[in-house]
Amino acid sequence: MNTSAQPKGMVVVGNGMAGSRFVTEVRARDSRVPLTVYGAEPRQPYNRVLLSNVLAGRSRPDQIGLVDPAWYGDNAVDARLGVEVVRIDREAGVVHGSDGGAVPYETLVLATGSNSFVPPFPGTEGGLPAGAVAFRTLDDCRAIIEAARGAHRAVVIGGGLLGIEAARGLAGRGLDVVVLHRAGHLMERQLDPAAGKVLARTLRLLGVRSRLGADVTGLRIDRDGAAGPRVTGVELAASAGGGGPEVVEADLVVVACGVRPEVGLARAAGLEVDRGIVVDETLRSVTDPSVRALGECSQYGGTVYGLVAPAWEQAGVLADLVTGTDAAARFTGAREITRLKAAGVDLVSMGETHHGDDDPEVEIIQYADAGRGTYKKVSIRDGRVIGAILLGETGTAGTLTRLYDRAAPLPTDRLSLFFPGLGGAQPVDSPVRIPDGATICNCNNVSKGGIRACWEGGARTADEVCARTRAGTGCGGCRDAVEGIVSWLAERESVPAR
Ligand SMILES: Cc1cc2nc3c(=O)[nH]c(=O)nc-3n(C[C@H](O)[C@H](O)[C@H](O)COP(=O)(O)OP(=O)(O)OC[C@H]3O[C@@H](n4cnc5c(N)ncnc54)[C@H](O)[C@@H]3O)c2cc1C
Repeated sequence: MNTSAQPKGMVVVGNGMAGSRFVTEVRARDSRVPLTVYGAEPRQPYNRVLLSNVLAGRSRPDQIGLVDPAWYGDNAVDARLGVEVVRIDREAGVVHGSDGGAVPYETLVLATGSNSFVPPFPGTEGGLPAGAVAFRTLDDCRAIIEAARGAHRAVVIGGGLLGIEAARGLAGRGLDVVVLHRAGHLMERQLDPAAGKVLARTLRLLGVRSRLGADVTGLRIDRDGAAGPRVTGVELAASAGGGGPEVVEADLVVVACGVRPEVGLARAAGLEVDRGIVVDETLRSVTDPSVRALGECSQYGGTVYGLVAPAWEQAGVLADLVTGTDAAARFTGAREITRLKAAGVDLVSMGETHHGDDDPEVEIIQYADAGRGTYKKVSIRDGRVIGAILLGETGTAGTLTRLYDRAAPLPTDRLSLFFPGLGGAQPVDSPVRIPDGATICNCNNVSKGGIRACWEGGARTADEVCARTRAGTGCGGCRDAVEGIVSWLAERESVPAR
């Protein structure tokens, strides 16, 4: 294929949350560089984080779009949506698409994300049977909603963040839901066992049962139906007492067993891949300086980040670098903060949460009221928050996030970290007391000062502030905080200065 007539510019592979953000960040800095983006999914990019809300019926698919399709044409971006890049020819500096086309590049940016991990259940080599769906894309989400119509019993395999959000969404649609989880407690990566127990209890009250230590060995499949193979249940390993495998019956099975970075293309092109594509702090492949990688397919400092905040931070850093806006920009790692998006369950977890009282280096402050579904824990080392769990009541999540994020010294009034406003003091989360430099929107790295500046620039509602600063447009968890700050600014303005 002759590509010599085409100008070499930037080619982005993957138009998910990282790739689409990178493209808009580049155009915000440089309107001229030739820019092509390939997206295997045949639609405008969307906020994958909010798929759980779509599954739960709290958002519609048309409300979670990220970049309007018209934007590409208006901004001279060659968007090849529904086209997968099938090969990278590094020697020629060309990518080849599934549409038979090819595009030359000077800089290649890989943002291929992850795929759902589906365990190799016997008999599913050709794909999952009808009624069994993994949960990663909008198509998956639609398939689950479709399958949930007319279904009564759902099994979710995997009790991590995604599995629990899916389970809660399905229970909200009236299904009888069981989560089968291999570990001894739910969300074991983010929670300690005590928190996992309180979470399981809360979920039970919301119609989601959890079965822990569950060793799923396969799917029970009816192969005789006229419409083809259909799932009828999930098989668990036989108990030590003998007998056949136990079957948990289900007419809908959601597989939420984690993700694997999509690195096949990079590996085939000879780039160094560990769990992800290995990059340095300029997000450059350690194998080839003309290739960069960001988002869930990349690995920096031994870590593959599975959250949107680091991916969006990387997008900004990389846009600064490749457009020459800031040659000193670097990605030096990110702190991981997880917020569950499940109706009726408030949960935020950050950092190291598994320390117990037996570690002399770490001070633990803990409060539990299982009856009310509340569990709070803060882990402190050298006077700084190194981890926290807030379950049931998350009123101080913003403050804890800021203390953790900036490794800032703890306030002397430690109880206010758990109980806002205790003792008559002004709550630490009050907009008055939040310093200007404090991050309010973690996904988009927007500070209180940024919100104030936006207000001073003329924005008068939380919607306007969110649209201009992007605060609240990631996981949406900071929306209340943004509204609080906007109301406070409005109040201040209406009170005449004395
Ligand atoms: C249901 C759900 C809930 C989540 N909740 C949260 C949350 O609360 N907070 C949080 O921080 N994160 C959450 N996440 C994770 C978050 O969505 C990811 O971290 C984020 O999407 C990563 O962005 P990415 O661009 O690296 O990958 P993706 O968003 O997966 O995008 C990768 C894109 O690349 C495309 N692609 C792959 N290979 C090719 C190819 N060869 N050619 C062309 N295109 C290709 C894929 O089709 C895909 O569209 C959630 C994820 C899911 C599924």
